[in-house]
Amino acid sequence: MQLPEHLLDELTGKTGFDRTQFTDAHDHAAPTSVRLHPVKGIGLFADMTGVPWCDGGKYLPERPVFTLDPLFHAGAYYVQEASSMFLHRALIAANATAPGLRVLDLCAAPGGKSTLLQSLLSPESILVSNEVIKTRVNILAENISKWGAANVVVTNNDPRDFQRLESYFDLVVVDAPCSGSGLFRKDPEAINEWSEANVVLCSQRQQRILADVMPALKEGGILIYSTCSYSPEEDEAIGDWLCAEFGMTGLQVPIEEAWGIVETVSEKHKAPGYRFYPDKLKGEGFFIAAFRKTSGGETVKTPGTKHKTGSDSVSKKEREVLRPFLREPDRYFFIRQQDQLITLPASREDDLRILQSSLYIRKAGVRMGTVIREELVPEHELAMSTLIHETVPGFDVDETTALDYLRREAIRIDTEFKGWALIRYAGLPLGWIKMLGNRINNYYPASWRILNK
Ligand code: SAM
Repeated sequence: MQLPEHLLDELTGKTGFDRTQFTDAHDHAAPTSVRLHPVKGIGLFADMTGVPWCDGGKYLPERPVFTLDPLFHAGAYYVQEASSMFLHRALIAANATAPGLRVLDLCAAPGGKSTLLQSLLSPESILVSNEVIKTRVNILAENISKWGAANVVVTNNDPRDFQRLESYFDLVVVDAPCSGSGLFRKDPEAINEWSEANVVLCSQRQQRILADVMPALKEGGILIYSTCSYSPEEDEAIGDWLCAEFGMTGLQVPIEEAWGIVETVSEKHKAPGYRFYPDKLKGEGFFIAAFRKTSGGETVKTPGTKHKTGSDSVSKKEREVLRPFLREPDRYFFIRQQDQLITLPASREDDLRILQSSLYIRKAGVRMGTVIREELVPEHELAMSTLIHETVPGFDVDETTALDYLRREAIRIDTEFKGWALIRYAGLPLGWIKMLGNRINNYYPASWRILNK
């Protein structure tokens, strides 16, 4: 693989960079890795080697056809590049497991960092998972739905829109769009698109995005910044710029020497950064750094809450229909959006109100369905959610039937049961069916169905 000479020259002499080994590593295929869902993925891939810096991260010996694995569709794991799972360590250093945090993932599609964040955050924290590009919000919403948590709100906003939420967030993650040199092994075409001029453009865009979102981070809050670029202009230099412009201070993330991660410091402000080189570890190129905001934003100014959450429009009767579907109904509140009933953590009702009045919400919490004649017509998101009660009727099926179901084909189950039921594979729900006695209706979402034979 012919790597850009300019990039190699720029990196030569930098801490931990070995030009020959780095170049050689690009003649080998990228490893395949997945990250297990903390509830749905328990016990999966037990024999596989773990990603050392991330609980639930696993290397697979080869890349399977994930589309043909029902567990992939059940949300039992997320296919994610191993280096980027180091976010796990940065979050621990940032004390992100503390309850009651407001967290923003600003550049979130397709959802790798957001699903990792959600796995680690307390269920009493709220995650705003944002994507500015409209066409990429659907895949983000789909992946968040599959992950199945109630404490995530997916938004479709420009970074500058978050200025309406001054000093609102405790933690902001910016996994910025970048020149992409860290992914050359996975996408060799990107080598032809790489240029010094594009690195400069990317670095300017990164600064714009960060400057736009910074007012939304409260004083004492943490910013985690990452790229999949090796260029110092997009990595350590951005750290220096953050320290100079916004009074940020770098935060150390503990690492073990055996992991092969290279710790660097920015030139002027000595902010720590973490570099991932493919010749030193099993993963792709990645950079991540964490910062604490030490100035600005003293007062928490939350915007007016003129819009209602809609919780008062859910009747007592409807609530009674919904509650038996949830394992811990007292921990949730319900809202209505047109005819859909949605559930979110009870402790975050005020946050939903604030977010509704400031942002364009693509989806919030878990859509449970519609109540018609005192019966719930369930939504797919409820089947995917980890909130669902184990007494909800369901049928376990073999792999062939599971794949037929996921293709939205007709399936057969020998039973007298009539009504709504879950289809489960290896104990995990895949979606809903309605059993009518003489036939079974398949309610797998048409837009999610697998086309692969
Ligand atoms: N965090 C994602 C994950 O882990 O799955 C990957 C994010 S990707 C590196 C960067 C994202 O930034 C893309 O989804 C892209 O659409 C978005 N983006 C592009 N231009 C942007 C801009 N000007 N402001 C904010 N986000 C932007």
